[in-house]
Amino acid sequence: MSSERTNKLTQLDFAHVWHPFTQHSEWFRNEPLFIDRAEGCVLEDTEGRQYIDAVGSLWVGVHGHRHPIVDAAVQKQLEHVAHSTFLGLSHPPAVELAEQLVQCTPERLQRVFFSDSGSTSVEIALKMAFQAQQQRGETRRIRFAALREAYHGDTVGSVSVGGIDLFHKVYRPLLFEAAHLPCPDHYNKERFLADQAIQILEEQGDELAALIVEPLVQGAAGMRMHSPEFLEPVVKRARELGALIIFDEVATGFGRTGSFFATDQLRTKPDFLCLGKGLTNGYLPLAVTMTTEEVFSSFLGSHEHTFFHGHTYTANPLGCAAALATLRVFQQEKTMEKVELLVEKMAQMLRPLASRQDVGLVRQKGLMVGIDLRGRSGEALPQKARTGHRICMAARQHGVILRPLGDTVVMMPPLCITESQLHKVVEVFAHVLDQHKVVAE
Ligand SMILES: *Cc1c(COP(=O)(O)O)cnc(C)c1O
Repeated sequence: MSSERTNKLTQLDFAHVWHPFTQHSEWFRNEPLFIDRAEGCVLEDTEGRQYIDAVGSLWVGVHGHRHPIVDAAVQKQLEHVAHSTFLGLSHPPAVELAEQLVQCTPERLQRVFFSDSGSTSVEIALKMAFQAQQQRGETRRIRFAALREAYHGDTVGSVSVGGIDLFHKVYRPLLFEAAHLPCPDHYNKERFLADQAIQILEEQGDELAALIVEPLVQGAAGMRMHSPEFLEPVVKRARELGALIIFDEVATGFGRTGSFFATDQLRTKPDFLCLGKGLTNGYLPLAVTMTTEEVFSSFLGSHEHTFFHGHTYTANPLGCAAALATLRVFQQEKTMEKVELLVEKMAQMLRPLASRQDVGLVRQKGLMVGIDLRGRSGEALPQKARTGHRICMAARQHGVILRPLGDTVVMMPPLCITESQLHKVVEVFAHVLDQHKVVAE
């Protein structure tokens, strides 16, 4: 029996709320969890039950909840100003953050354009790339290339370069056309697929405005991974053909792949870098699109060369303060050194899972993990059975929050997760898989 407060909240949620990426006929079957407070990697619901957050509040948690340094930074900023427009005015935390981001990203990225979500950061990169090409006189360059299964956000422009049919198919008539390049999954046939991708790029030739990719890990595609050996030649060829290069590191940024950015593991550097999610440690909605002086300077001059784009909450000062503190914590706590150890531990913990009949591929890059579920004899599962969803719901009963992408279970813990918490996550996952087997029989 739940408390009166929880019952009341359930009633109101069911009556008035529409949740993202949620089939509500399914949602109505279970009492929602109302997260009331949190600390580090642990969430607490309105019933006082605790859960290890194994998905970092959907890939945003880095240093954990209620981090004293980030809390203090936001509180301090509150005493100054909570919001001031960035149209026609500037403010200290945004300028300081821009400088810090320029410091920690590839040298060629010198300009920072603020927005408030990963989707908007991608939308902005697409529009900037397009307009830069137009303003350089490359007026035929009106097409984009992206990887198959890509996910770049949910606004109409970012959906146009997306390649996940389940999410994107219904909108096709509304979208601009993009060339979708084959992309390896788990490092298979990389050379062959790179050649194919290059061939498609060449067919687009001088109509290509830009190529957009999630470097090294395609997150929402189900943690599909490729290596620099695939990506480098594809990016190189796109650039030779005159396309600008956009790296969407909204998911892979801020330590997730084992390096600070996935880009750090690559020789080729992008013309645009999209960052979001971990930027504020999950505190406030903030994102950035970074670009080169070369792109920026193509917008200088006459009034009509202006980038006519901006969101009301652009460069929100509280968000910028949280982001500055998040970057500071990386240095003070030597977070990346800890991540290195944790990545190794996690690999050890996941190893026994890989030999199970009911588990397909186990993929890990840094602290990004995808585990494919299979039937008892290793067969693919019927989509209708919603096994991924059911396994994640079962894990909750044991105090672990997981999220599936279809029948791939995702683990993307905050970088601050402890070894014992990680151990519990993997243990609970294995346990609910065992239980599930019993139910199925
Ligand atoms: C989550 C995500 C986005 C979209 O970010 P939102 O903040 O949800 O709009 C874009 N690109 C990638 C790679 C993502 O993982």
